[in-house]
Parts: sequence; structure tokens; C-alpha cells
Amino acid sequence: SDQHPRPNARHDQAGHRPADLPATIQHYIDGQLVDSLGGETFDVLDPVSNETYVQAAAGQQGDVDAAVAAARRAFTDGPWPRMLPRERSRVLHKIADIVESRGDRLAELESFDSGLPITQALGQARRAAENFRFFADLIVAQADDTYKVPGRQINYVNRKPIGVAGLITPWNTPFMLESWKLAPAIATGNTVVLKPAEFTPLSASLWAGIFEEAGLPAGVFNLVNGLGEEAGDALVKHPDVPLISFTGESSTGQLIFGNAAPYLKGLSMELGGKSPAVVFADADLDAAIDATIFGVFSLNGERCTAGSRILVERPVYDEFVERYAAQAARVRVGYPHDPETEVGALVHPEHYEKVMGYVELGKTEGRLVAGGGRPEGFDFGNFVAPTVFADVAPDARIFTEEIFGPVVAITPFDTEAEALELANGTRYGLAAYVWTNDLKRAHNFSQAVEAGMVWLNSNNVRDLRTPFGGVKASGLGHEGGYRSIDFYTDSQAVHITLGKVHNPTFGKH
Ligand code: NAD
Repeated sequence: SDQHPRPNARHDQAGHRPADLPATIQHYIDGQLVDSLGGETFDVLDPVSNETYVQAAAGQQGDVDAAVAAARRAFTDGPWPRMLPRERSRVLHKIADIVESRGDRLAELESFDSGLPITQALGQARRAAENFRFFADLIVAQADDTYKVPGRQINYVNRKPIGVAGLITPWNTPFMLESWKLAPAIATGNTVVLKPAEFTPLSASLWAGIFEEAGLPAGVFNLVNGLGEEAGDALVKHPDVPLISFTGESSTGQLIFGNAAPYLKGLSMELGGKSPAVVFADADLDAAIDATIFGVFSLNGERCTAGSRILVERPVYDEFVERYAAQAARVRVGYPHDPETEVGALVHPEHYEKVMGYVELGKTEGRLVAGGGRPEGFDFGNFVAPTVFADVAPDARIFTEEIFGPVVAITPFDTEAEALELANGTRYGLAAYVWTNDLKRAHNFSQAVEAGMVWLNSNNVRDLRTPFGGVKASGLGHEGGYRSIDFYTDSQAVHITLGKVHNPTFGKH
């Protein structure tokens, strides 16, 4: 068969473990690697063998308190918030250089820890470097907001860093998503406490060395590992953390929103999705098939913007389903470290069980046309064959719920109005993909679709200047470009009169 997974693949397992793995994963507080105060740890598994390969420090309230106190000191007394943007920019460029130069090692560790295919992990490492370079340039390029006002007055906007930012991130492309928040948060002069996802703490443990080498002062970056309901919760409820930037599940976002409410914290939320890819009959079908295959099976389908519902106009529906299923069956599942691999192993056995639950459910809710279980030869670890269900009804759970794995639902439609109704028919609103050669229809559809981002005849490519974020249950606020700068700064307005002050004379009569 064309399938990459070979019988007896179990014999290849040994090669997937990188050399020089750390013996433990610690917190990093005030420039020091430390264990939890009470010595608590949790197991970290590798998704190919599901064996525990390391213990990580499990942060509790006291550890979060120590990290926040260090970040607070670095904010109130340290040099970082007081440096000129140009000076901070230099440090960020150095960080980008180091991340770039360690791309291969980063990708190796990330791929091992998360199960992402090595080639895609390398792409994500490069993107992490770009994030730092982008914000390094943006903070020096940013125009001042200064307004000349009649009466020889000047009004200007003083963009001030806010304080200690709490950054809480998911496991799906960990290092890159951490960089996405770290870069703008520190570029603008804040100090941070990062709480990375507990399934994938390995790559985050590299930040400390990278930042030290680049010359970031101690206390600006702090890392507390641990479980969401312990370390994450303590960070969200800490009174000295005025900002929480969160990426993760919508249900977790709801919980955090409530927990942060008593403190009126600034919140940025990038949440889940169930994004539609809409293929009209006039579309370039070859391009649409390639892009919609990539759109749901890249990053193991563990992608927030995955086009996991494909809506296809009736005249091309049968042809689309047949070709799509055939191509999905040829997607190469394999070891994450193998450069030929297109889909690796899902992150964790719990997540694997969740995805497989949907695969079984799908067999009752739709017509299985590809995959449907483990790939041939992989009777271990968290491998799932790319799975395609056709004829899925709009009220099916596999149509409305986020699966976050290599599983896609295909549904036919007859009219543009019906396509729009189907596209908008979930609680989510992160991304939408539209395939048509009708210019008016492409734009009209974009205006009406409930999605934070629309790609027209295009795959996931995004310039870092554009906003990223979702509507409805997919998020709150946007990240990216100036939107990130706005989130991580207070725009204080300062009004000054340079000439004679024309006071209204109250009480002088
Ligand atoms: P998750 O919500 O389970 O966890 C995300 C982070 O929140 C983890 O670090 C976790 O430890 C922490 N956390 C959990 N409970 C918490 C609590 N009570 N208080 C504070 N922190 C808590 O999400 P996940 O499973 O790690 O990630 C997958 C989800 O992330 C998917 O829904 C995906 O769509 C979404 N995601 C969204 C984007 C986006 O930009 N919109 C990007 C990537 C992933």
C-alpha cells in the first residue's frame, strides 16, 4: 500500500528519543532554575511510547507567588520597563537570532514531546524567531501619537507597560504559541510569568537559557510549570497580575473569565474552533482539495484554525468526496522524528481517547470514507489515521464540536444562503476558508460569515501585521501587530498647554 506506516513499525521506536534529554524540568524564577517549594512533580509522557520520560515541577500557589513577586520586582525596580524601545529591541533581535540558530534542536525536542512531525515543528520554531524579530522592529517603528491642539496645547499618548502579564498556553504548537505572547509582552516593557501546557513542558524549558544569553534581565521572564487547575488557577487569581493572555479551550476560557472578573483583569482569549471550508462548484478543485487536506491534517489536526468542516456545493460533491478520501488515505502517518511524516502522534493518551471517541461516534453520524482508527502497523502510542466522514448532518456532534485531531466532516449544500447558514451553524467563529472564482460571492460571503479570519482561495498563510482572533466562542480580542501592542500597554493620554493658560474663571466674581 501507499501508506507510510509499515507493519512492525514498533521496531523503529528506539530512534525517536533525542539525546541529552533533561533529567528534570524545573521552574525558572528570578533568574534561577528551581523545584517546587513543596517538591511536587508531575509525569510527562512521550506520545509515541506513552512512557513517562521526565518529571516536571508542579507549581502550587507558593511557587506562583514567588514568580509573581520576582516579576513584580523586575517591573517596579528593574531596568527593563524603563529602557528605550530601541534598547529592548536589540535584546529581542538577539533572542530571535538564538532561536533561529537552535531551530533544529528546538524542533527535535518539540516533535518528541508533542508528537508533531519534525518538519512542521521546524517551521514552527522559525515562526517563533520571526515573532521576536517582528515585535523587535514594531516597537521602534511605531509612530508616536502626538496631537497639536488649538491654544498651543499638545496632547500625546504615553504607552505604558502594564505590569506582570500572566501567559497561559496550550500544547498544540507550544513553543511558537509561547513566543506569540512572550514577544509582544516583553517588547512593550512588561514582565511575565509563563504557565505552559502540562502535556508539553519540554520546549518551554529552553526559554530561560535563550533569554539569559540574549541579556534579558533576571525577573523579566519567569516560568512556572504545572497543572491548569493549580498553577494556572493561582496565576489567574493573583492580585498582582493585571493581565492574562490565554490560549486554549473555550470552556477553560469561560472559567478563567469568571475567575479574573473580581479583579477586572485585562483578558485576551484565543479559544477553540470548528472552522468551515466552503467549496463552491466553480472553484479550482485541485487547489481546494490540496488546501483542505493540509488545513485539517497539518499539525496532526491539532490546529485551532483547522478547516474541520468542509461544505461542498452539490454539483461537485461526489467528485470532491471521492478525490478527498483517496488523498487523505495517502497522507503519511509516521514517527514524529521522521522527515517523511505528515501526521505524527497525538499529544497524549487522554487526548487520543477523546479523538477516538469522536471517530467511533462519526461512524454512526456520517459515512466513513477514509481512516477510522489506528493506522496500519501502529498498535501503540497515540497514532490516528486521517479520518474522513461524508454526508454529515448539521446537527451531528462531529459537525458542531471541536475534535482537535485528524478528523474531518464533509457536508453538501445547494445554495449560497444554505452554505452560509451551515458555516455559521456552530458556537465557534475562528476561521473560514472559501473556495470560489466568483469575486463578488467571495467578498459577500466573507462579510456575512461569523469568523475572525477568512482565507479566500488560500491556505493558512498570515502576515504578522494582521489581527489574529475569533468571534463567538472562539475568543475575545485580537492578537497580532498593533493589536498586541494595545493589549500589553496602557494608552495614557497626557494633555499639556505650552502657551498662556486660559483658565475659565470660576469663583472670581
Ligand atoms: P486547555 O484549555 O485545556 O489548556 C490551555 C492552558 O490552560 C494549559 O496551560 C492549561 O494548563 C491551562 N488551564 C487549564 N485549566 C485552567 C484553569 N482553571 N485556570 C488557569 N489555567 C488553566 O487547552 P489545550 O487542550 O491545552 O489546548 C487546545 C485548545 O486550544 C483547543 O480548543 C484549541 O482550539 C485551542 N487553541 C486556540 C488557539 C487560538 O489561537 N484561537 C490556538 C491554539 C489552540
